[in-house]
Parts: sequence; C-alpha cells; structure tokens
Amino acid sequence: MSIAEDLAGLVPDAQISTQTDQLEVAARDESTLPGVAPAVVVWPTTTEQVAEIVRYCAQHTLPVTTRGAGSALEGSTIPSEGGVVLDVSTMTKERNYWPEDLQIEVEPGLIYDHLNERLKRDGLFFPPSPGGSGDIATIGGMVSTNASGIYSVKYGGTRDYILALELVTGTGEIMRLGNRAIKRSSGYNLVELIVGSEGTLGVVTSITLRLAGIPEDRLQTAYKFPDEVSAATAVSEMRRYGLDLAAIEFLDRRLMEALNQLKDYGLEEVPALFLEFHGPKAVLDSNSELAAEVCSELGGVPLELADGQRPWEIRHWATDAIKHRKPGHSILRNDVAFPISKLPEMVAYCHELGDEAGILIHTFGHVGMGLLHALMLADRDNPDQWNTAMELNNKIIARTLELGGTISGEHGIGLGHKDMFEQEHGASVELMRRIKRQFDPHGILNPGKIFDI
Ligand SMILES: Cc1cc2nc3c(=O)[nH]c(=O)nc-3n(C[C@H](O)[C@H](O)[C@H](O)COP(=O)(O)OP(=O)(O)OC[C@H]3O[C@@H](n4cnc5c(N)ncnc54)[C@H](O)[C@@H]3O)c2cc1C
Repeated sequence: MSIAEDLAGLVPDAQISTQTDQLEVAARDESTLPGVAPAVVVWPTTTEQVAEIVRYCAQHTLPVTTRGAGSALEGSTIPSEGGVVLDVSTMTKERNYWPEDLQIEVEPGLIYDHLNERLKRDGLFFPPSPGGSGDIATIGGMVSTNASGIYSVKYGGTRDYILALELVTGTGEIMRLGNRAIKRSSGYNLVELIVGSEGTLGVVTSITLRLAGIPEDRLQTAYKFPDEVSAATAVSEMRRYGLDLAAIEFLDRRLMEALNQLKDYGLEEVPALFLEFHGPKAVLDSNSELAAEVCSELGGVPLELADGQRPWEIRHWATDAIKHRKPGHSILRNDVAFPISKLPEMVAYCHELGDEAGILIHTFGHVGMGLLHALMLADRDNPDQWNTAMELNNKIIARTLELGGTISGEHGIGLGHKDMFEQEHGASVELMRRIKRQFDPHGILNPGKIFDI
C-alpha cells in the first residue's frame, strides 16, 4: 500500500493529497532555496489525528515536516523527499479564552492577524507581530521560529508570551507542557525549549498565550540623518537613555532610494529612523520630546512624509523594493542580531564590504533589539557574483559572532544557516542532538533542519 492509502485509514480521504500542484505548494517556503516535493500532504483537524499520523510515520521511519503558512525564510519548512507534510493550517480553533487573565488557548493554524482581529473587541492583542507576514503567518509557525517584529522592542518576542503548549512528540505521544501561571519556578522549562525548535522536537497542537492590553494611544514619527552611522548611534543612545519605544526601525539611504523606485513615494533619499510610542498622551509627548533631543544631538531632524503616507506602510515594501531593483536577481538575506551598541559598527561594516566587492548591500531592520537585515542582490546564473555574495553573507555572520551576536535573531536556522550553526554554538550542539533524540528517537521530525543528527 502507498503512504496515502495507509493514511486514509487514519483521516478522511478529503484531508490527504498526492496531487502535483499541492505537493508543489508544500515543497517550498518563502526562502530562495529550491523546493523538495513530499510524497503526501495531510491536513489534520485534531490533536488525535496528528498523533496517529506521527505514530504511523515513526513505525515506518518516514520524515514528517509540519507546515503552518510556509512563510519561513530559511528553508525550515521545506520537507524531506518522499516524506509527509503535516499541514496544520486547518487547525484554527480558539480552545479557551480567559480575558480577565489576559490569556487565550488557540490551535496552531490560526493566523496572527485573525487572532488580533478577534481580540480587538476586548481591548487585547498578541504583540510580537511578524511584520510583513502577519496576514499569513500562523501562531504555530511563530512559536516554532520564535518570531518577532516591529513591536518586540517594547513587548518582547513570541517566546515571552507562551505559557503552555500541547505537543505531539516524535513517537506520537501527546504531552502538555507548562501551565497558566505567569511566574514559575517548577522544573525544567520545556516550553521554552520547544519555542524556536523549527518543528524538530514535536508538533505543536495548541498554544496558551499571554496577551497585552491595546495601548491607550500611539504616536509615530520619522527622523532623517546625515549618515547611517549617526542614525545607528541614535538607536543605541535612545536605548541607553531607557526611552520607552514601542518600535524603532532603521532604513539606510539605499533602501529609501529603492522604495522611491518601487512606489514613487518621493522620500528624501537619506538614512532614516521610524519610531512609534505607546501609552497615554502625556507619556507619548514626553517620550517623543526626549527622542527628538537624542536624534538632534546626532544631526537627526524630522523626516517629512507626504500626506497620507504612514511609516509602517512604507517599511512594509522594503524587501519588494530591493527585489525590484534588479529583476531576475535573487536576494541573499540574513537576520543577524548583536548587542545594540555594535549597530553603528555593523552597518558601516556591511556597506564597506559590499562597496569593496561591487555588490549593493541594503541594511535595515528592527534595530531596537539589535536586529539587522543586510540584503544583497546577486545573479544565481553568474557563479562568480553569486559566490562573492555568499562570501559577503558569511563574513557578515562571522563578524556578528565575533561581536557576541547570533546568526539568527528572527527567521531561524532551517537549511539556510545550518552550515554556520556550530560556529555559534560549539560543543553544545552535541547536547542539542541528545535532546532531539529524547523527543524524536526515530529522527523523523523535520530531519536535516538546524543541524544534522
Ligand atoms: C514578507 C515576510 C515578512 C516577514 N517578516 C518577519 C518578521 O518581521 N519577523 C519574523 O520573525 N519573521 C518574519 N517572516 C518570516 C515568517 O513569516 C515567520 O518565521 C513566521 O513565524 C512563520 O510562520 P508560518 O506559519 O509561515 O510557519 P511555517 O513557514 O509554516 O513554518 C516555520 C517553521 O515552523 C515549523 N512549524 C510550523 N508550525 C508548526 C507546528 N504547529 N508545530 C511544530 N512546528 C511547526 C515548520 O516545520 C518550520 O520549521 C517574514 C516572512 C515574510 C514572507
């Protein structure tokens, strides 16, 4: 019997597909890495179905890759050839809701924006927005990549909001990890171990989240700077003064040019910071005044935006604008993170590196958390150029590690950053392998991602 025929004994036929077009969708994520078609895609609707499918795969040593929306950027959602894709985007129920405790339990396929739409009526929200993918990214995918976004500077990343998880391990056992207490000193923190594990330790089938109150008011401003290093220094200075910022986004001059080319915004082509403050009006006013002082000490002055232009709408187009610069070229991206005081040095380093090699590097990101994207465009069909861009990318990552940073502050390791993982974690990778074997003794859960076992 084929895998699909066997699975038909576990879930209704309508929840299984071997159709080429559906296998092709399941073969990829949003990275530029080549796709790999699985043998079959299954859409479970209950935890019990997930457990039965995983037990079947464990018996037959078949790889299982869990899929939410497939918006990951490092290949973590690309399945193994001939394996099973467990697409949990059909599991979208709200299982429990405790607004008085600012908590909710949801299934993993619920989309970030849909959750916040539901919560809005009670004045609540789940803050760690995954930026431009909020309209597609699932809560399960956010947990598995520890996603974060523009508001993480004030509110933290996904990890800071997970109280409990229901998990199906690699043997098909259903486990409940954590509970609803917001402070715990009880035992090992297995919830945090699962967050960011990219589907390699289990399939998350429910998530109990902490929530936050929607801020009373918001204020958005934008500043322009004479050069990138001044803008980057202003970020670390604002953090040093303890300024309560909800978001700080950095855009270099090259990105501003690219945004004008794509959208005709008429922006001044200078490095910029987009800021947002949350709170009561009096607090917003005093915070924004202090931010203005810090910016002005570094040559920053307000950036005028045309009527109707909003900073986050402009920022939303960053990646598309860069892609648009050289049609037919592919993007090489990274999402390094380091101590905030190193931001000016890293921005300067990326630009110098690119200029010396004749490759245009754009830098931007949620810099309030020391997170920087250095995106470059190169022609995959031109091996010299592509290899040079890869080398630059590796140099940026190596420099980040020297400065005490991490390969990935946002998108995870997947396949894209696997080669450098050991460089960051050293001998502890062996400990991770041992942990992996406890959750997944048959090595079937998203094999080949993060590290080889
Ligand atoms: C335009 C764009 C902008 C983005 N901006 C951001 C950003 O600002 N910040 C950010 O952090 N990311 C960003 N991303 C990346 C991506 O959206 C996030 O990583 C998101 O959290 C992935 O969610 P997903 O549902 O698409 O997960 P998928 O891509 O489906 O899966 C991601 C990983 O999680 C695993 N997984 C998924 N669901 C489960 C589950 N239930 N149980 C166990 N494992 C599971 C998968 O196997 C895979 O390893 C962006 C992506 C795009 C395309």
